[in-house]
Amino acid sequence: MNALVLHAVGDLRYEQVPTPQPGAGEVLVRVAYCGVCGSDIPRIFVKGTYRFPLICGHEFAGVVERCGEGVQRVSPGDRVTVFPLLWCGRCSACERGRYAQCEHYDYLGSRRDGAFAEYVVAPERNLLKVPDGVSLQEAAMTEPAAVAYHALRRAGGVAPGETVAIFGAGPIGLMVAQWARVMGASQIALFDVVDEKIALAQRLGFTHAYHSHRAEEIIASLTQGKGAHVCVEAAGVPQTLLQACACARSGGRVVLLGNPAGDATVPTGLWSQLMRREVNLFGTWNSEYAVYSEDDDWHTALRAMAEGWLQLMPLVSHQVPLSEAVHTLHAMREGKGFFCKVLIQP
Ligand SMILES: [Zn+2]
Ligand SMILES: [Zn+2]
Repeated sequence: MNALVLHAVGDLRYEQVPTPQPGAGEVLVRVAYCGVCGSDIPRIFVKGTYRFPLICGHEFAGVVERCGEGVQRVSPGDRVTVFPLLWCGRCSACERGRYAQCEHYDYLGSRRDGAFAEYVVAPERNLLKVPDGVSLQEAAMTEPAAVAYHALRRAGGVAPGETVAIFGAGPIGLMVAQWARVMGASQIALFDVVDEKIALAQRLGFTHAYHSHRAEEIIASLTQGKGAHVCVEAAGVPQTLLQACACARSGGRVVLLGNPAGDATVPTGLWSQLMRREVNLFGTWNSEYAVYSEDDDWHTALRAMAEGWLQLMPLVSHQVPLSEAVHTLHAMREGKGFFCKVLIQP
């Protein structure tokens, strides 16, 4: 099969590799679309993967090609998306179904071969069927949609009438904004430093999308000086972390979602304000997945797509054939052009 193989940090090649074979309890999935995650760029060009050579790509959907021995819940031809975290099932986190906290997890696309390829093998229990009416492009965005939903759930969700401020209007920030709208937020403000991202947020109906440098002033004017109920840091930048904290009202919630890109120094005044206002800080990590229940982040994300609560297709800025993906990933790294969600099509 054709695949993008990472041989070393920055050494990404489009080449032929043997098609993987599904073992017992595993399924071979023909990849239809695999999204490029914000984390893939540093993974490929800076940090590297857990081992080399490795095929990246963890946000994907496709069609079941072949089932290994004992597989019962899916059959060839089924449209599926895949939870990319392979949990051990033998640690205290797994015992409670908190797979994202598993102590011995494996991961498609960072620790074992993922979906920047024509085929990928995954355990049957990691597969979800894609509902009718949801395209495979949309289904390939289930992972980031679930991560965005999880972030708001960590803050106890959004109550109708609340104001939500989102710092960073990339794909994840825009998905958080859509979930906040679904949950009934009365005001949703998005901030970014990239004009195209601000414009895209406005096209999606988020009229309060602004350049970050005015964030505190705008939140103050939207909330009669009180601050936002929920602030989501979705950029991983020190300045936006401080802004998210500064914009939270008394008793407000701040969610740390973006992957940190540098050290942040908290000014004494802000530190003191966080205390006086009794602001709640929430870390969020990955998403919650369940095999046998349907109220987890993944099933909820797919249901939201099927019901039309989430509009994910406008987030797709590029659909790229696998053969051209090396070029696109380099362009993303170098910031050449505007990229929102990029889908690779094997
Ligand atoms: Zn991701
Ligand atoms: Zn575990």
